[in-house]
Amino acid sequence: MIVMKFGGTSVESDVAIRRLISIVKTQIHRQPIVAVSAMGKTTNGLLEAARQAAAGDLAAARARLETIAEHHFKTADALALAEERSLLRLALANRFDGIRTTLEEIHQAGEVTPQFSDAISANGELLSSPIVAAAFRAEGIKGVWVDVRPLMRTNGDFTRAAVQFDEANLKLNEGFTAALANGGLPVTQGFIGSTAEGVTTTIGRGGSDYSAAIIGAALNAEEIQIWTDVDGILTTDPRIVSEAAKVKTISFAEASELAYFGAKVLHPSTLLPAMAKDIPVRVCNSRNPSNEGTAIVRNAPPSKAPVKAIAFKRGITVVNVASDRMLMAYGFLARLFNVFAAHQTPVDMVATSEVSVSVTLDDTRNLDQAVADLQQLGEVTVERDQALICLVGENLKFTPGLASKIFSSIEDVNVSMISHGASAINVSFIVADKDVERAVKTLHKEFFSELDAATFEAVAVARAAA
Ligand code: ADP
Ligand code: ASP
Ligand code: MG
Repeated sequence: MIVMKFGGTSVESDVAIRRLISIVKTQIHRQPIVAVSAMGKTTNGLLEAARQAAAGDLAAARARLETIAEHHFKTADALALAEERSLLRLALANRFDGIRTTLEEIHQAGEVTPQFSDAISANGELLSSPIVAAAFRAEGIKGVWVDVRPLMRTNGDFTRAAVQFDEANLKLNEGFTAALANGGLPVTQGFIGSTAEGVTTTIGRGGSDYSAAIIGAALNAEEIQIWTDVDGILTTDPRIVSEAAKVKTISFAEASELAYFGAKVLHPSTLLPAMAKDIPVRVCNSRNPSNEGTAIVRNAPPSKAPVKAIAFKRGITVVNVASDRMLMAYGFLARLFNVFAAHQTPVDMVATSEVSVSVTLDDTRNLDQAVADLQQLGEVTVERDQALICLVGENLKFTPGLASKIFSSIEDVNVSMISHGASAINVSFIVADKDVERAVKTLHKEFFSELDAATFEAVAVARAAA
């Protein structure tokens, strides 16, 4: 069997869902499980409604929800069989009633707690998936809606819940094997799960890719396919560099680095379950399905290119801790990292000198408390509005003079915290956020003006939105 995950743009309208069905049809013999995201920007819309309700504007929250509801009903009507329409409408209406009640509760509470946030945002996938399942049935394919929540067991860390793999793997395997058994096509949700008590959780924004990989690994899938709105993994974000080219094949290690350091096309954790089971992942464009996309495999074929792609992550905060006590003191770094651990704050990059340590953070929710504790260790300074740039490629470890090529090409940009990762397949550094686009454009020109045809493929046309 295979897992086919379709992101927001790939289910954004009746037209997009019809495309999804024709893509799945061509692979129906491979026993697909289809996992979908919320339609278009529904997740953002739901969360915005929650914020409005918390801020006291329940009317605005309700109005926003009505717009979302209209779009879902319209899409459902366009796709479902006439005899199924009223039942599907009823299921959607019940879901919207539930959302209205939650918005009222948020209004009462005056804040969007992480639990409320998940109770609201999980509805995007719970609304899109029954529509997609019904659309399959209208095409003569036995779409079976599977609620992933009782299978995708997580802890209760709302908005970033951790999957409890021992239980989840067993339940996902059982649940989907049963759904596949009578020749059904399971249609399920990315992004969401539930606690042992049955409370709905989400695994983090953009998490549907990760869900698909978890399901694929639990079922020992032949392949995990991520269907999105670009031809595959590109040499950088095409929103910044329109001439970004497709990388034909990339290794798990390279793609993991890119995802971790900001390439939004894959959620950062996506490749972990796939790597553990050695399941190939393919990233494809649902608007251009005849292109074979990017293959992500354990070992990519040798390439001449020193760099495969450039990722970047904006909104980074750098924290510096300077301490003359650090010199010679053992246990200093352990104490420093314990502070971040105690405040549940992941650290991305680290640079040390004799008297100071700099770390970069993405998640600053608990920064104030962390800084208070760090002040026990030394003098703390915080630099906001920074960005991380990361060049990735397995040849980085063999290419002499590469660092000078990288940094001389952007010599007019102030660079700090240079790190040549322990894996030696990435070079990362920090720039001011205001400089990041210019630096990425310059670096892209430097490394991808001439493309090695064995490794890259030009992206033919900028396809119009559906
Ligand atoms: P989906 O809704 O299908 O999950 P996302 O918006 O999460 O889609 O991810 C796809 C987007 O990721 C692309 O439209 C592109 O703008 C962005 N992106 C960033 N870096 C890259 C990259 N290196 N390769 C391809 N896409 C990238
Ligand atoms: N719908 C969720 C989000 O917008 C998950 C996903 O699309 O991957 O974050
Ligand atoms: Mg995504």
